[in-house]
Amino acid sequence: MNFSRKLITWYEVNKRELPWRETNDPYKIWLSEVILQQTRVEQGMPYYLKFIEKYPTLKKLAAAPDDEVMKLWQGLGYYSRARNMLAAAREVVTNHGGKFPNEFEEIKKLKGIGPYTAAAIASLAFGLAYAVVDGNVYRVLARIYSIDTPINSTEGATVFAKLATELLDAKNPGTHNQAVMEFGATHCKPAQPLCPDCIFNRHCVALQKGLVTQLPVKTPNAKPRTRHFNYFYLTDNKRTWLQQRTGKDVWQGLYEFPLLESETKLDWATLLQHDFIKTLLGKLKPVLGQQISFTHLLSHQKIEATFFEILLPKGFVLKKFPTFETSLTKLKSYPVSRLTDKFIESIQH
Ligand code: SF4
Repeated sequence: MNFSRKLITWYEVNKRELPWRETNDPYKIWLSEVILQQTRVEQGMPYYLKFIEKYPTLKKLAAAPDDEVMKLWQGLGYYSRARNMLAAAREVVTNHGGKFPNEFEEIKKLKGIGPYTAAAIASLAFGLAYAVVDGNVYRVLARIYSIDTPINSTEGATVFAKLATELLDAKNPGTHNQAVMEFGATHCKPAQPLCPDCIFNRHCVALQKGLVTQLPVKTPNAKPRTRHFNYFYLTDNKRTWLQQRTGKDVWQGLYEFPLLESETKLDWATLLQHDFIKTLLGKLKPVLGQQISFTHLLSHQKIEATFFEILLPKGFVLKKFPTFETSLTKLKSYPVSRLTDKFIESIQH
């Protein structure tokens, strides 16, 4: 069977019209790939359009302030993607005169760009023969060729990358790569693939062996780690206090209310005795307002968060560095995590 020819014929008839398919501008292709990692097309599309409108060129993105980019990204999650994208845009300006590198190895050296994204940019923007292997490609190949090597193992990465490269149409790598990803996204779907109407159903080994629902195989991830976050929303009805997250942890660079992380869930009475509160408020006897809890799931972490509202007298001066004061009317302008945003939404509506 000519895998690529069959697939490209299917693609030409069935592909969705998506804005990043209308271009071979490496910046736009890169942006779409970064946004679509871990994100569905329907959710990612408005972000892609917002970014292109605000930063129509890579140079415009590179010149943007960090906070502005993070704010525009807010809600997409996996914030390291945005931070790395901005760093890479600046690298392209500094080291490549603002012109996107046109060789696979050079593309892969940019911050946050792994083999998958580098192959996508190299093939779609520059017509270079590199096969992409994303979740869709793993699924399609695992089923058609009935491969049960776990896709999240080192061996799996090697086996599938080798097969994807063998199947690639080297004369037409961009269309081939888009076709296989699209086929996985809309036809050979994770649940309820459209086998009766499939161009591969005479060749698909998983279908013949009744293994479609069992492939691809994935080794289960370790149980997510549970963390307890106690946030303090301090307010005198006009002002509140925020801080920026630093260090290598989730939500790096985003803003949040003063935070005390604890080993276990803490109640207000226990927190009142804690040095953190004493350092934050000095001699002031804090008055508790509302208390709102959320469970927030990240890919490898479960965050049990409680936001404690502390009502402050007018004119109160908070000394604890690095917390800074802002007005409640400006609160929505800071880039924050989805968790903090949920709390802000709950108090502002
Ligand atoms: S027959 Fe079914 S499992 Fe096989 S490639 Fe087609 S849609 Fe996927």
